[in-house]
Amino acid sequence: MVDAQRPWKGPILDNHFHLNRNGRFLDAAKDFKNVGGTHLVHVHCPDFSSPPTSLSEHRETYADTIAMANEVRKEHDLHVRVVLGPHPAAFAHQFIKWMDEDGDKGLERACENYRDSIDAALEFVQEGQAHAIGEVGRPHWDVSDEVWDLSNLLLEETMTLAAREGIPLQLHVEGELESTYRDLSEMASRANLPTHRLIRHYSPPQIDESITRGLTSSVLVGKGALDPLLASYENNKTGFMLETDYMDDPRRPGAVLGPKTVPKRTQQLIEAGMDEEMLWKCHVDVPNALYGDAED
Ligand SMILES: [Zn+2]
Repeated sequence: MVDAQRPWKGPILDNHFHLNRNGRFLDAAKDFKNVGGTHLVHVHCPDFSSPPTSLSEHRETYADTIAMANEVRKEHDLHVRVVLGPHPAAFAHQFIKWMDEDGDKGLERACENYRDSIDAALEFVQEGQAHAIGEVGRPHWDVSDEVWDLSNLLLEETMTLAAREGIPLQLHVEGELESTYRDLSEMASRANLPTHRLIRHYSPPQIDESITRGLTSSVLVGKGALDPLLASYENNKTGFMLETDYMDDPRRPGAVLGPKTVPKRTQQLIEAGMDEEMLWKCHVDVPNALYGDAED
């Protein structure tokens, strides 16, 4: 049902999309497809009310995220990649709660749980069932120094693992522009991780390379994003992708952006003068280089 009037007829990828069995799930994927979407990156979303606390529970919840991706492939013939990992918000809350209850022991247990969740994700990546680890990062709200430092320590540890394993990370971080990119690029260099393998989810639309410092930006394409993106993309060498962070949360319909947004913005970008080569890079070459080729 691709509209003949659409100026861009190539592949369209949404780089950060959550699906939820209790949300619109297959219907949301269908909305994406009906407006020209072809490739989804389905990012694991934990049950924030009771995140997993053991290796086997991590495996179980990840397996369900993979099963959802399979259902979308089968039902809608969309290409779906999977990203698995411990969401930094869920992890930070768990860390605070266990430390309150159990002091240093709670802290240790929280770190161990984080590492279990990374190990479980890595197993699925090595098996080819998942394509990156994420979203990992650090809290985007004010936390104590202790929580902040621990989040950074674990994040850098995960970067070291990503460097060793040759895999990309999808990052969920606080919203600052220059200081966040600078900090993350410094962490990557300490971890020997090529910076482009850090994909900044929910990236602001200013992607001048002097700001992004070699990280890959996954730009959240709200209405106001187009002008700053159009003004800066020619100064970005590393590459970027587009995303909605679609939440598929029945309690918060309309939170963040809807499933049709990336296809819609892609058409607006080409109408506003972004060239086809750049769009091809954004929807095909950059994701293929990071996650592996999208086999048809
Ligand atoms: Zn997300």
